[in-house]
Amino acid sequence: MSITGSVPGTDKRGIRELGGEEKVGWDEVTQGVAINSFIGETENAAFLKPEERSYSDFNSYTATVASWRIIKPVYNRDICIDCQNCWVWCPDTSIISRDKQMLGIDYDHCKGCGVCVEVCPTNPKSLLMFNEAADNDEELAGWPEKQKKEKK
Ligand code: SF4
Ligand code: SF4
Repeated sequence: MSITGSVPGTDKRGIRELGGEEKVGWDEVTQGVAINSFIGETENAAFLKPEERSYSDFNSYTATVASWRIIKPVYNRDICIDCQNCWVWCPDTSIISRDKQMLGIDYDHCKGCGVCVEVCPTNPKSLLMFNEAADNDEELAGWPEKQKKEKK
């Protein structure tokens, strides 16, 4: 992996200033260098929707990691109670939620870890993991039924 732009980097001959299309590997970046996540106006970035922010090439949002996944979560809106557990616990900020309503999964950045499924409290769960190649509509059509509690 490499980064481009005006970033102080080092090579075996010492520190140098990079510019234009010149590239430096992650293990060559000068320690302590600040790499900007956004370009232009950044003051209100936190208040914008993720897709409306001006990301720099260095921001991980600009890179998809979909190819890393071998299993994926599928979301069932019919059962979801919008508790936001999945949004809170997803380690990759890949649950899309607006105004406390769950909207779906950001498949560009989801890595398929399954944490969202683990923390989903509904019965049956509103998120389940399937093979990456599975058809979402088919899996939704065959969603498991509610499980009865066992009598003690
Ligand atoms: S599978 Fe993991 S990365 Fe993907 S949405 Fe669920 S918690 Fe987030
Ligand atoms: S954890 Fe389950 S019920 Fe809660 S918002 Fe996420 S999908 Fe919906």
